[in-house]
Amino acid sequence: MKIWLDGNLVDESEAKISVFDHGLLYGDGVFEGIRFYNGRVFRLEEHIRRLFDSARAIILNLPWTVEEVMKFTCDTVAANGLTDGYIRLVVTRGAGELGLNPYLCPKPSMFIIAATIKLYPEEHYTNGLSVITCATRRPAPAALMPQVKSLNYLNNIMAKVEAIQANALEAVMLNEQGNVAECTGDNIFIIKDGTLYSPLISDGALDGITRAVIIELAEKLGVPFVAKTLTRYDLYIADEFFLTGTAAEVIPVVTYDRRPIGDGKPGPFTKRFLAAFHELAMSTGTPVA
Ligand code: PMP
Repeated sequence: MKIWLDGNLVDESEAKISVFDHGLLYGDGVFEGIRFYNGRVFRLEEHIRRLFDSARAIILNLPWTVEEVMKFTCDTVAANGLTDGYIRLVVTRGAGELGLNPYLCPKPSMFIIAATIKLYPEEHYTNGLSVITCATRRPAPAALMPQVKSLNYLNNIMAKVEAIQANALEAVMLNEQGNVAECTGDNIFIIKDGTLYSPLISDGALDGITRAVIIELAEKLGVPFVAKTLTRYDLYIADEFFLTGTAAEVIPVVTYDRRPIGDGKPGPFTKRFLAAFHELAMSTGTPVA
């Protein structure tokens, strides 16, 4: 496997980062997860723009342009001869002295991995997932800006552990007020009486690229959409419930906190969004070569 690392495509065995890198020492850095389908990178520019916004918000100055990073990303996919898969793009603060001070790290590091992806088993897309609410809360936006896709995922990992221990694949995370924020690696949508709802980003969710695609598709499909504060109650009484994320794409939820959602099967709106998403993903994107 060829890895893009600080300007060069190197062998996996040579793709190494310093133990003094603040990305490793403090989680000081940002990242993106991106999918490519049929030799085209899906929503590439949106992902790279979000990466630059995340970096800007934490005063991490990237020495490249958005266009350059888009090209490096495509180059990495092409160098590995892949047509379908997942890209992990990471920018770290770089190596510096021990101590938090990011100004003592002279140069950020960037690496890009293009690999195949193991999806949730197909049966979950047709039969739906069971999810639970976990006790681990999302940090308050004033503590960790939810829009910044940072390397600080310990919060999400602890929530994921709760999901695994409860035999669930995802967990709903609440914010400090007890309202629904998002899942550990996915955004949340529900359908109630023909309207599509999603929690506000300011309630503690990542501004998901897949979430934005669903909002676009809602307009195309003539489904009204409202972003608002949602509680567990709203999710319990939803007609339909689904999650979105780059890795998961669109995945139905059929049980939440051991309560069936709707009739306990993926609903018609969810199926329409899932189909429309796949059609878009397979037919659009930035060509790799
Ligand atoms: N929330 C979190 C915490 C995430 O890590 C992700 C991405 N894995 C998402 C939501 C979904 O965002 P996107 O659609 O941009 O992948």
